Amino acid sequence: MSKKYVYLFSEGNANMRELLGGKGANLAEMTNIGLPVPQGFTITTEACTQYYEDGQKINDGIQAEIMEYITKLEGITGKKFGDLENPLLVSVRSGARASMPGMMDTILNLGLNEDVVDVLAKKSGNPRWAWDCYRRFIQMYSDVVMEVGKKYFEQLIDQMKEARGVTQDVELTADDLKELAGQFKAEYKSKIGADFPTDPKEQLMGAIKAVFRSWDNPRANVYRRDNDIPYSWGTAVNVQSMAFGNMGDDCGTGVAFTRNPATGEKKLFGEFLTNAQGEDVVAGIRTPMPISEMSEKFPEAFAQFEKVCKILEDHYHDMQDMEFTVENGKLYMLQTRNGKRTPAAALKIACDLVDEGMIDEKQAVAMIDPRTLDTLLHPQFDGEVLKKTPVIGSALAASPGAACGKVVFSAEDAKAWAERGEKVVLVRLETSPEDIEGMKAAQGILTVRGGMTSHAAVVARGMGKCCVSGCGAIKMDEENKQFELSGKTFHEGDWLSIDGSTGKIYDGAIPTVDASIGGEFGRVMGWADQYRRLKVRTNADTPHDAAQARKFGAEGIGLCRTEHMFFDADRIPAIRRMICSDTVEQREAALAVLEPMQQSDFEGIYEAMEGLPVTIRFLDPPLHEFVPTEEADIELLAKDMGKSVAEIKAIIAGLHEFNPMMGHRGCRLAVTYPEIAAMQTRAVIKAALNVQAKHPEWTMVPEIMIPLVGEVKELAYVKKVVVETADAIIKEAGSNMKYLVGTMIEIPRAALTADEIAKQADFFSFGTNDLTQMTFGFSRDDAGKFLDAYYDKKIYENDPFAKLDQTGVGKLVDMACKMGRATNPELHLGVCGEHGGDPSSVEFFHRTGLDYVSCSPFRVPIARLAAAQAAIKDEK
Ligand code: PEP
Ligand code: MG
Repeated sequence: MSKKYVYLFSEGNANMRELLGGKGANLAEMTNIGLPVPQGFTITTEACTQYYEDGQKINDGIQAEIMEYITKLEGITGKKFGDLENPLLVSVRSGARASMPGMMDTILNLGLNEDVVDVLAKKSGNPRWAWDCYRRFIQMYSDVVMEVGKKYFEQLIDQMKEARGVTQDVELTADDLKELAGQFKAEYKSKIGADFPTDPKEQLMGAIKAVFRSWDNPRANVYRRDNDIPYSWGTAVNVQSMAFGNMGDDCGTGVAFTRNPATGEKKLFGEFLTNAQGEDVVAGIRTPMPISEMSEKFPEAFAQFEKVCKILEDHYHDMQDMEFTVENGKLYMLQTRNGKRTPAAALKIACDLVDEGMIDEKQAVAMIDPRTLDTLLHPQFDGEVLKKTPVIGSALAASPGAACGKVVFSAEDAKAWAERGEKVVLVRLETSPEDIEGMKAAQGILTVRGGMTSHAAVVARGMGKCCVSGCGAIKMDEENKQFELSGKTFHEGDWLSIDGSTGKIYDGAIPTVDASIGGEFGRVMGWADQYRRLKVRTNADTPHDAAQARKFGAEGIGLCRTEHMFFDADRIPAIRRMICSDTVEQREAALAVLEPMQQSDFEGIYEAMEGLPVTIRFLDPPLHEFVPTEEADIELLAKDMGKSVAEIKAIIAGLHEFNPMMGHRGCRLAVTYPEIAAMQTRAVIKAALNVQAKHPEWTMVPEIMIPLVGEVKELAYVKKVVVETADAIIKEAGSNMKYLVGTMIEIPRAALTADEIAKQADFFSFGTNDLTQMTFGFSRDDAGKFLDAYYDKKIYENDPFAKLDQTGVGKLVDMACKMGRATNPELHLGVCGEHGGDPSSVEFFHRTGLDYVSCSPFRVPIARLAAAQAAIKDEK
């Protein structure tokens, strides 16, 4: 039997989302439960896929099937398409599996032409309505099918209103509207070069094609990428017989939610507009009435609507977002779906539904989108001021939160200005580890270059600091402390506001308000914790971040990047001396200065984590990141080391790397300079011993992690240094403290030889940032330059640094887990790349059998919820 591409509403149900799209499945479901739905049919998502396979054509077979269903619909309604007696008019609307703003929405009144309008006008005795329908149809069809801008038609309407001396559309007469329809058609002809189509079948196929086409428009593609919606899904199309809200004052159209989508309050929320159609309610041309007033003007329809709301909530066990029309006092339902809501409303509604006995706790956990949670944890812009402030650019939403401050161009300025009480936004071409203190001092960070795993993004997320990165539109002039964006030059001290949750950049100051976490948040997280199997740790380098992460429920530290501690003003001279040393003795002397500082850093972190596991990673970045770039600093270092400026410059030049990501970094540093690993081991072990002595109630088991291993002998070599150093200190202290030595799996060769490596490792932590860049063969900092072209060409659908590439990189992770556990059944497995806080990646790590994920503090609640959802899904 050949494939069926079209379904009557009465043939579908709510479980057929994949095939019928969300709107189609729900129209079918409402039909099944006996609600008043104007009848129609749904053209499946598979027809959309077929349309693209056929080179953007609706093939003859599918066209014939659609027309067969038009005939069926004629049978159901008793009306006929294009008929001069009793014409059938339809709406055509898109409907993907997940609702997708950015796609074509609606065409109403399809099936009209001059002849049909005449008939409608005469038979109904309401020519104003008939011509209103026709002019709307021409306008919508021209706009969405033929892409003639809306504005041309709006101008014509405005001219007509002015000529007639009226202000409202509804004041235009039948003759005015007839004249407008004529003008619209002339406008269409002048823009398109052909007459407006009169054949309903041609109109219908044009509209369906426009829906299919809109699946691939740029806005839809961006939305899909942001919301993990695969391109392969396609959209369905719904063709529904019209109910008219514009036939007079006993008609109207409305949009409503069963609960308040902003606060979650259990009270009908929405708007209704008399004598109107479709978009009028949201278009802002006339002010609609609050839904509560509808009860006075349309008591019967309203009473019926309230009943429908109750039925729908009871049926779907969730808050519904509905569209409806009242035609001559009678209610028709045009759409229902689970309503979009703010994160705060989502939590309240989930808790209320549990309390009302509508859902259980697992369902409550499953219904909240983890990605939305972090907006609850960061400051946000004052909504009123935000509306009035112009957006001047947008880039990557690298780290959520809102920031408002005066523009500064260097980390030093950020620090200095902040110290005198100014709020600043740090604007940089890109950030480097030297900028850390400035980043800390700033309200937010804006960079011209760099992707989601660039230094700025990673560090900002770790700090919970707002960051917008990769804004290539900025023309930077660091020297003169100014930049240009959207035609405006910003100087040092000018106000700027950035939103790290949306990536938007605003000209001017928008005050921020602190986010508050209500009781429902804790309740839902408590439920989530009962169901998840994965542990959730955090990536934190300071006691402050560690404490923050504990508040958000972190169960340990999965990655403490020690290098971040080296950039503080009191340490950088020693690390520079270490780098520029000629002999082991000189290097050891410099390291001896750093050792007590590292030790006290680790003690601070251990204290903040209160006995929970802490994985400390040994020095990872290439050494050139630490050397000075400013002339004055170079001179200072030369003096400090008793060397000439030229000698220091020669050392710096020698540290230059052609490809720093693949250069002298990671365990290669410890192989070259084992004294660094020895110093770090002493600092870790002594810190743990001290904290253990202070807190006998905790069981300290320090975890030492060797980065960037690709060969088991590298690990064995560094491990030997660690073990010899650690054992000696522990013995000397008369302690029996245990410690673990593990490695990161972040080089493909490590994954490929995981069975060998596991014999030397107590744990693996997947460094999926490096593993992704080395598997794909492109740098995490440069991918932003070409990924857009890859999205456009559908080569990649997502940023693989944000969402784990399960097909390729995931295969390496899975394989390394299996091979590692085969030779070392005790092997503890985790992930500490940025993917540890991405919900779809967390689901993958759950399935792969990792023990924990580790992510930046502000993503801990997201990971907890995502881990619970993965476990719940798995159970099913
Ligand atoms: C990684 O590579 O995934 C990782 C966590 O290390 P870093 O980002 O510091 O290279
Ligand atoms: Mg790494």
